[in-house]
Amino acid sequence: MLRSPVVLPTAIIGAGPVGLAAAAHLHERGLPFVMLESGSTVGHSVRHWGHVQLFSPWQYCIDHAARRLLEPTGWQQPDPEGYPTGHALVERYLAPLAAHPAIAPALRLNSQVTAITRAGMDKLKHAGRADAPFALSVRSPAGDEAIVYAGAVIDASGTYDTPSPLGANGVPARGERAHQAQIVYGIPDVLGTARTRYAGKRVLVAGSGHSAFNAVLDLAALAAQEDGTAITWVVRRGELGTAYGGGAADGLAARGALGQRMRALVERGTIRLVTGWQTDRVAGTADGLVIFAGAQALEPVDEIIVATGMRPNLSMLGELRLGLDAAIEAPTALAPLIDPNLHSCGTVRPHGADELAHPEPNFYMIGMKSYGRAPTFLLLTGYEQARSVVAALAGDWEAARRVELELPETGVCSGPIAAGGAALDAASCCGTPAPTLARTAPLLISLTPARPAANGACCTPAAQANCCAPAEKNDCCGTTELLTSASCGCEA
Ligand SMILES: Cc1cc2nc3c(=O)[nH]c(=O)nc-3n(C[C@H](O)[C@H](O)[C@H](O)COP(=O)(O)OP(=O)(O)OC[C@H]3O[C@@H](n4cnc5c(N)ncnc54)[C@H](O)[C@@H]3O)c2cc1C
Repeated sequence: MLRSPVVLPTAIIGAGPVGLAAAAHLHERGLPFVMLESGSTVGHSVRHWGHVQLFSPWQYCIDHAARRLLEPTGWQQPDPEGYPTGHALVERYLAPLAAHPAIAPALRLNSQVTAITRAGMDKLKHAGRADAPFALSVRSPAGDEAIVYAGAVIDASGTYDTPSPLGANGVPARGERAHQAQIVYGIPDVLGTARTRYAGKRVLVAGSGHSAFNAVLDLAALAAQEDGTAITWVVRRGELGTAYGGGAADGLAARGALGQRMRALVERGTIRLVTGWQTDRVAGTADGLVIFAGAQALEPVDEIIVATGMRPNLSMLGELRLGLDAAIEAPTALAPLIDPNLHSCGTVRPHGADELAHPEPNFYMIGMKSYGRAPTFLLLTGYEQARSVVAALAGDWEAARRVELELPETGVCSGPIAAGGAALDAASCCGTPAPTLARTAPLLISLTPARPAANGACCTPAAQANCCAPAEKNDCCGTTELLTSASCGCEA
């Protein structure tokens, strides 16, 4: 006989930064949990890009509950102003956290979750559903299978394992699978372990996000040391514009600098930039790989690096009742806040358990996976999600709705969204026209009166100082009250 969900542990899927933060919060609340990690170590995905320096300084990389857990152990917090690499994030933070006696006994490595359902019922069955425990199918690397029962599930499994393809229409381009030996997805360590693979080679990088920036910048450094290294950068968009980011206006200086360094490379002609390119075919020739967009072809290359984003793996969630946006594949209430079709501020208003809820009670997706296909996820966002969701699972809805997060903005503001889903007049704010919202988004979220329910997408103080005349600040910020609101980022 299965125990009731209230005494069953919460299952956390994934021991990345956000899954481990959820564990720290569950421990703090005295709630039992089990953490299932497919890799052989914690931070398994982060280790794949361990050579990359984060654009967030340490102060934005550590969850509050995790810090409270670690501090009494003598753990040395890294310099808050310093920038970790992915490896340092694991070694100096995630590994000590996972080794803490409050977490280690609950951690099961080499445990890949392959399916989640409600015990004894499929997706169709309704009666008694909310009280039925979750049943998670878990597979070991050797293929052994086990069932783990849980009263709640927090899916923090990220998106790293499911990169988007080279094909511009979202499916692998013709020939892409056949030439996998010369294609890498993500950010290979071209200055380290993968150096010989790329030194002196003709390399094509596809994608216009931060991962593509990192790959191109590393290749440019390699090209400066190794003759014959040539870089072609292809992007689907017609012009780069805001893709370079907010530069000096970015609340995260290192993130802003990435785009500026890319711009400089393009302007100096160090790399060849191809815009408006929609890859639909990859062909092997005697002189190398050729990519096609219809009848057009680019010069042959030796290697291709695909950094076109990532997407959530939803296959293990097929028997759960999900409320996902059809395009973004993020929870329905969260999607309009992060939809890159609607705005490019890169900033999402603080959100928590209410916005992350699904029709399936006590199931939550948090962390990178909660953003679905949208870019711009930040650890800070994930930590706040973990705090709020755990508070909700503990029944503390006051804390779950007391969302306090202040996110560093990107400094790019092409279409801010006010509370309620209305488009703000971006022209009065940042000097760029606001796009028409295609969606009538139900953005009303539960917030305590202490935080003005508006305008997390407003300009940064820096952007306003640069872009907004004093007379326009009211338009930008919505109400006079908000002029003094720290959450709006406005200054009188
Ligand atoms: C190159 C790069 C640089 C980044 N830089 C920054 C930055 O500077 N600042 C910032 O705030 N954010 C940054 N991010 C974004 C984001 O914060 C990170 O991706 C972060 O690792 C997301 O944490 P997560 O815990 O949600 O997911 P992940 O770190 O991806 O962790 C998910 C975990 O789940 C495990 N897993 C996956 N599937 C299963 C399964 N089926 N069963 C069991 N376990 C599973 C994985 O092995 C992994 O350990 C960066 C991302 C990348 C890729």
